[in-house]
Amino acid sequence: MIGKLLEGGTTFSFEFFPPKDEGGADRLFDHIQKLEGLNPSFVSITYGAGGSTRKLTRDVVHRVRERTGLVTMPHLTCVSHSESEIQEILEGYAERGITDILALRGDAPGGGEHDWASEDFAYASKLVEFIAKFNDRHKASGFAGFGIGVAGFPEGHPGTGNRLDEMNHLKAKVDAGADFVVTQMFFENRDYFDFCDRCVLGGIRVPVVAGIMPVQSISGMKRMADLALGMRFPASMLRAVRRTDGSAEAIRRVGVHWATEQCRDLLDHGARGIHFYTLNTSGATIEIYRTLGVRDSGQLAGGEMLPF
Ligand code: FAD
Repeated sequence: MIGKLLEGGTTFSFEFFPPKDEGGADRLFDHIQKLEGLNPSFVSITYGAGGSTRKLTRDVVHRVRERTGLVTMPHLTCVSHSESEIQEILEGYAERGITDILALRGDAPGGGEHDWASEDFAYASKLVEFIAKFNDRHKASGFAGFGIGVAGFPEGHPGTGNRLDEMNHLKAKVDAGADFVVTQMFFENRDYFDFCDRCVLGGIRVPVVAGIMPVQSISGMKRMADLALGMRFPASMLRAVRRTDGSAEAIRRVGVHWATEQCRDLLDHGARGIHFYTLNTSGATIEIYRTLGVRDSGQLAGGEMLPF
């Protein structure tokens, strides 16, 4: 259970998305094999909001578990899903030994206005409630129950008008049964620390895992800054980008350096977990471990004594 892992030291985990074809799947598994050596605490697989890619998530989840034995957490978005569909997905995961689920709502289909009242699950809190009830019903049969993670947004969710209400909505997810929060990516650690403080003030006492995405390209930055994600890039990072010759390799180096510094600071300040948005590659993550001087995630909790 990931909640248990988060009780001891800092976890390091990796996120992947399901590739669309066999070629992409082969490449993904090459990268996963390279990353397996870093001994991640767990990995997670995103869930496509569109119908056609949803089954791919389940396929990748089962393949990763079977091939690697890594603790594998599927993301599950409830938008456009009926209760009976969610029930079937949960039963499938329980049968295949999945221990944790990241419970999400997902974005509005088509990206515009959406009639949320017509949904079986209008908010992620409803999905958390449903999974918690599923856990209770199945405990008699010896099933330990799924650990439940939920999303948190240190810079605020782009669709939320009221930041104070937003924390109440996060608390509703925790009160419904969530065991931990995984954050949206952020580039300014102060936003994460402040978010953790606001969680405590709001009575949210579960671990908050920090989402880190090493910038890999200018086009990637533009996508993240776009309305749907609304990411904010600190001036210092933009200056670092401006200092480069603009080449793809220089931008990638700035991104990896920035993410490494974020990780060092998060580790120094005892972040409960760091979740890497890998974009289905392994290079940036491996470089960050190397620069931190860490061979294996087991070392990230830090020893009790200095080694000299
Ligand atoms: P919710 O917690 O339901 O919140 C959605 C919005 O509704 C927020 O603005 C919230 O403040 C508001 N709200 C919540 N409850 C109420 C209420 N009772 N009354 C009024 N307003 C309310 N998307 C995917 O499609 N696939 C993925 O695999 C995926 N993985 C993600 C992983 C992480 C770590 C994160 C941070 C996001 C991920 N997303 C994914 C994106 C996510 O689905 C979207 O950001 C979505 O818009 C919000 O999902 P949520 O679970 O936070 O929803």
